[in-house]
Amino acid sequence: RTEEPWRPFNSSRVYMADLESALHYSLRVELADHAVIKGDALIALKNYISVLAKYFPGRPVVTNLLKSLNSWLQNQTADHISYKEIKETVDDTAQVLDAALPEGVRWVGCQGSQPHFRGYPCGVWTLFHVLTVQANNTGGSDPKEVLKAMRNYVHHFFGCRYCAEHFENMAKEGLDEVNTLISAVQWLWNRHNRVNNRIAGAVSEDPLFPKIQWPSPEMCPSCHTVKSNGEHGWNKEQVLPFLGSYFSSSRILTDYLE
Ligand code: FAD
Repeated sequence: RTEEPWRPFNSSRVYMADLESALHYSLRVELADHAVIKGDALIALKNYISVLAKYFPGRPVVTNLLKSLNSWLQNQTADHISYKEIKETVDDTAQVLDAALPEGVRWVGCQGSQPHFRGYPCGVWTLFHVLTVQANNTGGSDPKEVLKAMRNYVHHFFGCRYCAEHFENMAKEGLDEVNTLISAVQWLWNRHNRVNNRIAGAVSEDPLFPKIQWPSPEMCPSCHTVKSNGEHGWNKEQVLPFLGSYFSSSRILTDYLE
């Protein structure tokens, strides 16, 4: 495979190309590993696609595809579905509607300095933050809807199995206390920082993108405070609006889309 050219990007912005690439990888590569989907995994898939159809803030061509896939999936009454049927539905929808998923990945803000760094896991985190923020900004009905859908998708399908195990252990605690849409946004930010903390310096870390407690003081000076005991603290009154704006649909950049 020829090396792809480096795509210059602004490291304090979200790119639609990363979100679409994450969708492509999730729906065409990760799911394809599951020839037959049934039981709890099928429920997890239905909830995941439903959340994507409701909250993915994408181009009409992509949201058309997600909505159409969702209607088809929710109408399936069999106790199992094959990946082949899902693939056929995606391909058939593309023929009759102005609807499509990208045919491959094109990482931008999620590019790694080497092909094995970043990419899909970065895209998944970004997608999940965007979905929690979009549910909050558009007034979703159930505060736990997005987090539960993500948790179960990761549990059943996320290719990095030890990541899925760690995430499941983390999700077991604290998810009950998420009772508002904004606390779902905060929960995911907090857990992502815990993961960053745990894996900082690991061999999986891209040396060009070291794990930090995010957002950095450069990105959001007012998010950081010093507590009376001298320790670092987060100024939640600043962090939450920062997340709401950083991941909001109106700020997502559309550079490098096909
Ligand atoms: P990522 O951590 O992927 O973050 C992507 C982008 O999100 C960053 O570039 C930044 O812009 C933004 N961001 C960073 N922190 C936050 C935050 N707190 N809130 C909001 N936005 C933020 N790897 C392991 O080695 N072990 C694991 O156990 C593990 N578990 C994982 C569990 C899940 C559910 C996922 C999706 C991934 C997991 N990974 C794990 C992969 C790892 O977390 C990173 O995704 C991967 O190392 C790529 O890192 P990255 O530098 O692209 O930044």
